[in-house]
Amino acid sequence: MVRHRGRRVPVHPAPRRPGDLHCRSRQRSQLARHRPHPRKGRRAGPWCRAPRHRPCRLFRYRRLGHGSPRPAAHPSRSQLPVSDKKIELHLHLEGAAPPDFIRALAAEKHVDLSGLFDAQGHYAYRGFEEFLRVYEAATSVLQTPRDYARLLAEVLERSADQGVIYTELFVSPEFCGGGDLVAWRDYLAAMTEVADSARGQGIDSRAVLTAIRHFGPERAKRTAICAAETAFDAGGGWVTGFGMGGAEGFGQAADFAWSFDCAREAGLGLTCHAGEWAGPDSIRQALELGCTRIGHGVRAIEDAALMRELSDRQVTLEVCPGSNLALGLYPGWAAHPIARLADAGLRVTVSTDDPPFFHTTMRQEYDRLADAFGWGEAEFLRINQWALDAAFCDAETRDRLRKEFP
Ligand SMILES: [Zn+2]
Repeated sequence: MVRHRGRRVPVHPAPRRPGDLHCRSRQRSQLARHRPHPRKGRRAGPWCRAPRHRPCRLFRYRRLGHGSPRPAAHPSRSQLPVSDKKIELHLHLEGAAPPDFIRALAAEKHVDLSGLFDAQGHYAYRGFEEFLRVYEAATSVLQTPRDYARLLAEVLERSADQGVIYTELFVSPEFCGGGDLVAWRDYLAAMTEVADSARGQGIDSRAVLTAIRHFGPERAKRTAICAAETAFDAGGGWVTGFGMGGAEGFGQAADFAWSFDCAREAGLGLTCHAGEWAGPDSIRQALELGCTRIGHGVRAIEDAALMRELSDRQVTLEVCPGSNLALGLYPGWAAHPIARLADAGLRVTVSTDDPPFFHTTMRQEYDRLADAFGWGEAEFLRINQWALDAAFCDAETRDRLRKEFP
């Protein structure tokens, strides 16, 4: 959600200059322990106890350090029907944390998460205010590179279970080391190891390092520097994109031009949340930053000239319908503009945003789209081809994946 909450997050040291990249590691910041939702901006709360989490196959393998390849946990790509293969471009790593994973991590850390879950064990919230509180309290237990590695393993495994064969995760160095480059490298190394392992299990992934808009332009520079300094390195070349989430209405996009220029010069793909809570002008501003993709972008539907421009420029929209509905942007599936945007020639894709918080999955998104708009194999094949065209991956990976969507 992108309304600016008006609360200040803890103040951090000023970002280093672009040339001053090799600073010493410092302790994890207060922010990293009490992070606001990337699209929001508050701190929160209360705690309670909870049951054990089921073991994650991918992480268990990694942790036990078997010397030989483990059996494939998922059907090979060739075994999946085309209709069940999916590309996902818009998934916040912390927002994808399953409730049972968070409960288990909290138990390990002796953190009480009272009141965060309903009787079925799902995240429990009513309305925007509670959503913020639950999100922020839940993800505050993610505190170390190991926590993030375990989370990534869990998220990739669940995505693979949904038929996702390629996913891009929004990850913020602000939450992984407080924006410090040396600390971020530790988090990145831990996550890259998991991503490399998962690649052999049927799901490929890349990271889009994400600045938080309402943290301001100076802190966005720290994320851009982390992105530029770790672009395409660290084993599998996991960091391939740069983006911005947060309060869409905070400042002007031009305030963040330095960060987007820095990331573009490093060869990273660019995306920006816009046109979700802010109107069509926010999308135009994102285009001026050089973005080839727009996070959400659904409010382009309100501006015919903008829709023509997006179509002509073949800009890809990372649409997350279930997220939009869960947060009340549209009253129901029939009112969601994704089908009208596609009919107008825009390149739309489908993602889940923060799936357990919105009680959705990729299969559920596809099912609801089929129910609401009669979409079938041809439509889903098309949106996955568009997603692949727009993916921030290397040509070899794209060519390999393209064979999955003939
Ligand atoms: Zn998002």
